[in-house]
Amino acid sequence: MHNISQVGLNIPRHGVREIMTVASKIEGAIHLEIGEPNVTTPIHIREAAKAAMDAGMTHYTANAGFDSLREQICQHLLRTYQWQVDPEQIVVTPGAVTALNATMLALVNRGEEVLIPDPSWPNYEQIALGQGAVPIRYELDRANDFALSLEALEEKVTQKTKLLIINSPSNPAGSIMTGQDIQNVLEFARKHDLYVISDEVYDGILFEGEHLTVKKFDQDDRVISIFGFSKNYAMTGWRVGYAVAPLPIAEVTAKLLEPMVSCASSVSQKAAEAALTGSDQFLAEMTEIYRERKERLLAIFRQANVPVIPPKGAFYMLIDCTELGLGAEEVALKLLEEEQVAAAPGTTFGSTTERMLRISFATEDGELYEAARRIARFIERHR
Ligand code: PLP
Repeated sequence: MHNISQVGLNIPRHGVREIMTVASKIEGAIHLEIGEPNVTTPIHIREAAKAAMDAGMTHYTANAGFDSLREQICQHLLRTYQWQVDPEQIVVTPGAVTALNATMLALVNRGEEVLIPDPSWPNYEQIALGQGAVPIRYELDRANDFALSLEALEEKVTQKTKLLIINSPSNPAGSIMTGQDIQNVLEFARKHDLYVISDEVYDGILFEGEHLTVKKFDQDDRVISIFGFSKNYAMTGWRVGYAVAPLPIAEVTAKLLEPMVSCASSVSQKAAEAALTGSDQFLAEMTEIYRERKERLLAIFRQANVPVIPPKGAFYMLIDCTELGLGAEEVALKLLEEEQVAAAPGTTFGSTTERMLRISFATEDGELYEAARRIARFIERHR
C-alpha cells in the first residue's frame, strides 16, 4: 500500500474541531467553542428554499452560480456599500471557505508565500498548506486590541510573497480595520506587488464604527473580497458564500470550482437570494442581541477581574489566561473537565493568542451567562 500524501498528513488539525470532539462526549457540556449562530435560519429564507425545490430547481447550476443570485449580490453591494460591481465578477461558492480555497488556488503557485494574520481563523493556514503554498504569519498588535501593524507586515514580506490575507471584522479578536489601515495595507500591497484577499464574512456584525469594504478602495485591481451568508443570516449549514474578484481572476476561480465542487447547491443559492431580497431586520436584531451579550459578558468578566479583549465586531471574545501559567490547550481541557464548558484554545489561531481562550457568544443567553460565570470561577480558582 502506498503512503498517504504528505500534504494530507501534515496539515494541522483545527483546534476548534478538536475540542468540539472531546466536548461532544461530555453530557451537558456548554459549547462556546464553535462559531455559529444558535438560531435557525429565518423563515422567509427556508420558505424560498422549499419553493425552489418544488419548482424543480434541483439541478447543477453554472460554476459561478445562478445569474439571478449574482445579480442580487451586485444589488446588495450597491445598496450596502454604494459599490458598483459587475455580476461577472461574482463567483458563488459552497461557503466562503470554498471561495477562499478557490481564489487562493487561482493566485498562488506551490512554494510561494502567503501572509496570514496572527491570530486568525485556522483555515487560512490549512488552505495554503493544502495547496503547497507557504503560510507566513504576521502578528496583529496585541497591545492595541489586535489592530493591523504595518511594521509586522514589513518584517515578514519576502521576494516569494504573493498574497496577503486580511480579515475584518476579525475572527478571533473582533478587531476592525479603519480607513487608514486599509489605505496602509493597499499601499503595502502595491509596494511589494501582492494580491490581497479580504475576508469580510462578518461584515454585518459590528458594534462600533462602520464596515469599510476593502475592494472599494482598490485602485489597481489587486483585491479579492470574500463574503458569506453563514454568519449574517444564520445559514452555516446551507453552505453559500462568494468572491468578488477582478474579471480574469473570477473566471479562473470559477473554472477551478469544477474539480472541487462543480457549483454551490442550487437550493441553497435560491435561499441565499431570498436572504438578500428579504428584509434586513433579522441581521439588525441579531446584531443588537450580540451587542447585549457582549456587554453582559464584559460585565461578568470585569467583576471577576478576568482580562478580556472587547470585540468591535463578529461574535467572539478572547479571554486572557496568561496568569494561569498554562498553555491554552491545557486550560481548555481543564475548563472542560472541571466546569463542562468548551472554549477554543488560542493556540489554534496563532502564537499571539497562545495563552488565551476564544468563546463564541452566538449562544443562547442562559447557557452563555452560566458558562461565563463558570469560566470566571475557574480562573479565580487557578490564578
Ligand atoms: N472566514 C472566517 C474568518 C470565518 O470565521 C469563517 C467561519 O467560521 C469563514 C470564513 C467561513 O464561513 P463559511 O461558513 O461561509 O464557509
